[in-house]
Amino acid sequence: MIIQEISADSILDSRGEKTILIKIKTNVGEFSASSPNGKSTGKYEVKPYQKSLEEDIRKIRKMKDYFSKEIIDKFDDLIGIEDICEKQVGGNTVFALESAILKALSKEKKKEIFELIINKEKKDCLKFPRFVGNCIGGGKHSPDEKKPDFQEFHVIPNEKRLEESFIKMKEIKKNSKFYIKEKDKYFLEQTNDENAWRTNLNDKEVLEILKIFNVPLGIDVASSGFYRRGNYYYNNPPLKRTKEEQLEYLSNLIKNFNLIYIEDPFDENDFESPSKLVLRFPRTIIVGDDLTTTNPKRLKKAIKEKSINAIIVKPNQIGSLIKVKEVCEIAKENNIKLVFSHRSGETKETILADLAIGFGADFFKVGITGEERECKIKRLIEIEKILNK
Ligand code: PEP
Ligand code: MG
Repeated sequence: MIIQEISADSILDSRGEKTILIKIKTNVGEFSASSPNGKSTGKYEVKPYQKSLEEDIRKIRKMKDYFSKEIIDKFDDLIGIEDICEKQVGGNTVFALESAILKALSKEKKKEIFELIINKEKKDCLKFPRFVGNCIGGGKHSPDEKKPDFQEFHVIPNEKRLEESFIKMKEIKKNSKFYIKEKDKYFLEQTNDENAWRTNLNDKEVLEILKIFNVPLGIDVASSGFYRRGNYYYNNPPLKRTKEEQLEYLSNLIKNFNLIYIEDPFDENDFESPSKLVLRFPRTIIVGDDLTTTNPKRLKKAIKEKSINAIIVKPNQIGSLIKVKEVCEIAKENNIKLVFSHRSGETKETILADLAIGFGADFFKVGITGEERECKIKRLIEIEKILNK
């Protein structure tokens, strides 16, 4: 497949912020892809754009001549593209470009995108991830003054088919509204950046509500968002916790609410504290997001220090699908579960579902409702149907 032309533009994400859209013209047609934007971003993520979105757009247009010589025949040829992009553009730009190329390659090879990625020698790749659905939210994704301190409260159903799990998540989300209304007199049925319910309730009150539904639960503490110089500063209720107190608090929540999933329980620079949680709760999924930033080096450090047993994979955190592949391989070799995840500012791009299947994800965290979230869920369900034919 030969890239003949390439162009870039800006579009708006679900939050109304600008993000990049890349278009390519090839010998098999025209293709486009976009990248999402994070808000509670990890300190160690790559820059979304080298200097600015506008500058990346200009650079991509100028780099047209380099790209036009590029011939891509398989997934690993993306290395060539990454070499050209290196230090010239940011992670969002590279991810959108690589996604557009995979779409073109899929057309040329008459294969689904996930088929281009699957490593056929390792048969364990063909499995379906389980949904992690953000139902009620707080932290940086909710604009309210009074809100839960944790960023996300997840329901994690495990029905036989993905479609059934999707229906279950949507039902819980709809019904949880009535319980929130009972306890939160200011509740206006509004949703936050990821389309989760906004509420004035606190972390425990939210978990009490979700417990009613008798479904496995999880949380994204996103704790770097409220960590400062050795302490976690809670607002609802106002309270300061040391890392030792944070460990005890989260341990109690895991026990009392049977949490099966807990993301970023400690600050992004603290590899030691989460290892204590892993030791106490080896069967709970302890996930690194801001801690690991889809970065092979940080993943290796987390493995060495036994900080996690699962990692969030957000391709634009590292801005290289070759490195995403490396992260997935290291994780699998070390029994670390893979959680493919959206960003809070999303587009209608669905490639994340193909990447999740192609790289053998264990979990798929893309919210529950809203067009930008549902299109990814629907693509995953579509793939399940294709593969079960
Ligand atoms: C997250 O922290 O898991 C997340 C999706 O947030 P953001 O995209 O805002 O970084
Ligand atoms: Mg997170």
